[in-house]
Amino acid sequence: MAALIFFRFVMFKALILGRFLAGPKGAKPVSISAVMPTYARTDLVFERGQGAMLYTEDGRSFLDFGAGIAVSALGHAHPHLVAALKAQAEKLWHTSNLYRVAGQEKLAARLVANSFADTAFFCNSGAEAMECAIKMARRYHQAQGAKDKYRVITARGAFHGRTLATISAGGQEKHLDGFAPRVDGFDQVPFGNLNETRAAITPQTAAVVVEPIQGEGGVVPADPQYMQGLRAMADEYGLMLIFDEVQTGFGRTGKLFAHEWSGIAPDIMALAKGLGGGFPVGACIASEKAAKFMTPGTHGSTFGGNPLAMAAANAVMDVMLEPRFLEHVNAVAADLWSKLTPVVAKHNRVFECIRGKGLMIGLKCKVPNGDVLARFLNQGLLAVGAGDNVIRLLPPLIITDAEVDAAVGMIDRAAASLAA
Ligand SMILES: *Cc1c(COP(=O)(O)O)cnc(C)c1O
Repeated sequence: MAALIFFRFVMFKALILGRFLAGPKGAKPVSISAVMPTYARTDLVFERGQGAMLYTEDGRSFLDFGAGIAVSALGHAHPHLVAALKAQAEKLWHTSNLYRVAGQEKLAARLVANSFADTAFFCNSGAEAMECAIKMARRYHQAQGAKDKYRVITARGAFHGRTLATISAGGQEKHLDGFAPRVDGFDQVPFGNLNETRAAITPQTAAVVVEPIQGEGGVVPADPQYMQGLRAMADEYGLMLIFDEVQTGFGRTGKLFAHEWSGIAPDIMALAKGLGGGFPVGACIASEKAAKFMTPGTHGSTFGGNPLAMAAANAVMDVMLEPRFLEHVNAVAADLWSKLTPVVAKHNRVFECIRGKGLMIGLKCKVPNGDVLARFLNQGLLAVGAGDNVIRLLPPLIITDAEVDAAVGMIDRAAASLAA
């Protein structure tokens, strides 16, 4: 009996000691944050948004010229999007792709009616849309017997996502570091260089991928002749031409899709960011020819195109397909460019140049872009950094002339404070 009591006592102590070693509940003796620290985050917590404005928990407000990296294309809390998502949330969230999904059929028909494409696959992110594009290009050739056609030519400075295949496609050392071996099958050439692209083509080449405007790479537009040259080259060599419009798509440049400015079309296109207006959704759309071998069982996604995502994306399309929508984007973009260009020129010790298209604007900086972003923040303006020491302005497409004036004023004052 005494032995049992003693045993219980020891076990009790062990329990206490164990608790002590583990620390209080929820605070294990580790220094890593509970949210895996893969991002260098700005110390702001937003509580709500309205249009182009974001509000923090402690009552500060910011003009959002980052739009969650070109995602919140219709701003925050857009009434039509809120109503559509609420209505869907009360009916049905998810069924899987074991069944037909009415929202997919509606959205696919609209994408087909408003682009070069004949068919759409739905996924949840930009990287997944790119994975589908790469798989489709390989399968197009391999299903026809060209078993060794798998290589894809990509552009230096590109960004296609953070999966194993897409970091290899992007080819940026900072994204590949520590994740060897690279996924095989990607050959990089300088962005904008048709001769080097042609020289990189081998009998194993299946496809060429470009962003019509490199986003993460620093807002670097492809010129129309380059885009047209890529189309001609893809036709000449029987390659699939893939455009990554994850960032440039859905009205960002003033056309529904940025490649429309160059008058040519790809065979396959990856879409995401603006499509859901903040709800995670992606799409890979393609011509019938390109998608001919994407038969049942060849590709899939549990969540892809679920009813909630489709409700959000269809609500975005309701707004973007309104006849005057792109007119507004082009008008407000023209206003922003005309007011911002002299401000950039005036602060020529801070800014080197302004580039981009529509509401996808890059300010190349002469001082570290992080310092400039910090000054923007002090003024109450949110923007996004990019490669090549660039700041991206990616405002919601619904911004007003008054918000343009406010942003230009903040940029002017931020640059002046930096020069002082
Ligand atoms: C953001 C982006 C991606 C990746 O999208 P995720 O949703 O983060 O996977 C791919 N390509 C381009 C051009 C992008 O801008």
